[in-house]
Amino acid sequence: MKFTESCNWIDGQQQGLLSNLMQLSEINSGTNNLSGVNKVAEFFRSYFVETADKVEEVKSKPREHTNIEGDKIQEEFGNILKFRKREDAPLQILLVGHMDTVFPENHSFQSPAILDENTLHGPGVADMKGGILVMLTALQAFEASNHSKQLGWQVILNADEETGSHGSVDSLVTAARVADAGLIYEPALADGTLSRARKGSGNFTIVASGKAAHAGREFSVGKNAIMALYAAAKKLEELTDLESGVTVNIARISGGTAFNVVPANAVLQLNIRCLTLEQQQSLEAEMKKILREISSQNEVALELSGAFSRPPKTISPANQLLMDWVVDCGSQLNIDVQFKDTGGCCDGNNLAAAGLPNVDTLGVLGGQIHTADEFMIIPSLVERAKLSLSILHKIASEGERIKALNEQGMVKQC
Ligand SMILES: [Zn+2]
Repeated sequence: MKFTESCNWIDGQQQGLLSNLMQLSEINSGTNNLSGVNKVAEFFRSYFVETADKVEEVKSKPREHTNIEGDKIQEEFGNILKFRKREDAPLQILLVGHMDTVFPENHSFQSPAILDENTLHGPGVADMKGGILVMLTALQAFEASNHSKQLGWQVILNADEETGSHGSVDSLVTAARVADAGLIYEPALADGTLSRARKGSGNFTIVASGKAAHAGREFSVGKNAIMALYAAAKKLEELTDLESGVTVNIARISGGTAFNVVPANAVLQLNIRCLTLEQQQSLEAEMKKILREISSQNEVALELSGAFSRPPKTISPANQLLMDWVVDCGSQLNIDVQFKDTGGCCDGNNLAAAGLPNVDTLGVLGGQIHTADEFMIIPSLVERAKLSLSILHKIASEGERIKALNEQGMVKQC
């Protein structure tokens, strides 16, 4: 099939895509609703299986973390789907989507509705069930073209992106290492703008353990865990530097028992964001130093857990070339593609940290994501599928250039 014929074929998919998207939106797949996420996986599996050579369904790794009560808990996630095609082709790309949403089973927002001919409202329609349909349609069209022999692909659909991809990051990184470029199907903004660089983000929990005492009889014997965390919170918050893009958000704090007890236990949770790996490393060191000092001044033990699960995504020369291609492919289709930096994170952060240049907002156009007003622009289903098809053709014919830039980058790092 020629490119224009493929585009015509994609145009003909509009109704089917919309009806599939509505069915998918109807299935609740909040990250912790494992059976819902697995139902979405079943749906996608039945479509991708026709296009791929190899299908694998693997368990996500459970995540261990400390909750706001200070208890260590284990969180389970739905399964990860992997599809491969032409593993031995000279060029390899990784396409990534997530099947989970931020809406739990008991949320009031559960069903889609067509608002007008351009707008579909519903949970996950933009973020990112619509995006996975865009990916699937582009791959189907690509496989029907005669360009496909050069290019092998792997698709990973994970089940825990909305809580930080803790259970799927190993699968993503392993796949990133054998790929030359990455395409991720998070939604573009409603005006079509794609994301460029992304801040890194880390969630941390500090558990403070002091000494309880009667507030009247033995006040001075007590070691106040809340006051130690308060002092730590103030110092940590001072690391915020808006000009250089560093933010420290003191997000939650809990602790204490009764009015007349010096509290022995308290827990603090915070989120840190920054623009570069150097900032990330210095923030990690600074945080540990602050906690050591406050701990010894207050005689309260401070135990830190958590990590930068999303390292900053900076734009390498290979990544810049990939973005330039997306702009070129857009202009062929009369789409004016613009890129903008963002403070938000996604799996694109982790792929970039694993050395894989990627564009991470190739899904549908939409807005108000993570709220009950989430919507997507209906015509963007076929528009963005055509854009992705064009990108696939471009990588199939010129991907060696990205590969060469990646290799140069590796040499520099060594
Ligand atoms: Zn998303």
